[in-house]
Amino acid sequence: MASSVGVPTTSAPPLQVARWCAAQGWPVHPLAPGTKHPVANCADCAATGHRASGCRCLVTGRWCHGHLAATTDHDRLRSWWEANSQLGVGISCGPAHLVVIDVDAHAKPLPARDRLLPGIVIPDAVDLAGLATGFDTLALLAALRGHASPADDTTTLRVRTPSGGLHVWYQAHPSLPLRSSTGAGKNRALAWQVDVRARGGFIIAPGTVTADGSYTPVGAVRRPAPLPSWLAAELQRTHHAEPPQDRLEPRRPPSRARQAVIAAGGAQDGTPAVLAGLLAEVVACTAAPEGMGFSDKLNRAAFTAGGLAAAGYLSEADAAAVLLDAASTARPGQERRWAPIVRAGLAAGARRPLHLRGRA
Ligand SMILES: [Zn+2]
Ligand SMILES: [Zn+2]
Repeated sequence: MASSVGVPTTSAPPLQVARWCAAQGWPVHPLAPGTKHPVANCADCAATGHRASGCRCLVTGRWCHGHLAATTDHDRLRSWWEANSQLGVGISCGPAHLVVIDVDAHAKPLPARDRLLPGIVIPDAVDLAGLATGFDTLALLAALRGHASPADDTTTLRVRTPSGGLHVWYQAHPSLPLRSSTGAGKNRALAWQVDVRARGGFIIAPGTVTADGSYTPVGAVRRPAPLPSWLAAELQRTHHAEPPQDRLEPRRPPSRARQAVIAAGGAQDGTPAVLAGLLAEVVACTAAPEGMGFSDKLNRAAFTAGGLAAAGYLSEADAAAVLLDAASTARPGQERRWAPIVRAGLAAGARRPLHLRGRA
């Protein structure tokens, strides 16, 4: 954005906050008014056994399923906040490529010395007297690594929370998808009283007001800086990197397929032109808001690809790979959402072999 117009303040209407976030490319979803929790699911979505994947509410733009409903779609934001202007604003960290260090200052008894910085033996020479909150454990971690605490990082967006904590916002590196954790987690934790908000989680937008207080930016910087490399290394060490098997099913034709798809319409890689055209539509969604349009285009392309595969124009594995490649180009970091759509579309299309006439 060219100016500071729209930078949220705590007096801004929530819709304005939501729009500012969307303008940064951060998909947003509503929070229950006055709280830090997503709006409750509808009765169907709240039913036991209901799963988000394939949920009608997500396809039709309802706000069920918290961060999974997040979008940058202007019209959808308007309809949500017109329904209730006091809804808070959450940001889905994964598709926003955000990693937020959530520093807590809760009054809690100190855990054992070896639980303060999981995986790190704190030298006996380090005096822990006075250590009381996540600010202290994060500062200790940074000091042990020879850096200033991220809590003091004046180069990036930092947001004071109602409970006296701090959110330190960073841009995740595209080649290193990171996932969320809570400091209490056994399997991955950066530091005691320090949570990590990344893929699989959401962060409360600056400017949001809850019954406990407001999320107020501190300092002058309103944009997340790139994640410092030492911190990225610490997040990898503490198991916050997405395991490779979760990133995607095997992709057969790598960049060659993507290039052909982006080139749009050509059959350079052997992809029939009819499919290349549909894939180009999928990829063209890169700049478009999320939502129904994208899923529908992907589904249509998968259906066509299934028919072409059944008619022998390409293998189903290649079709799946090229579709997922296109989907992940348009919507990076959400592969797990698209895989079921691709599978279903291919399966449906395979029942109707598609024989091309004339030039393919
Ligand atoms: Zn629902
Ligand atoms: Zn649902």
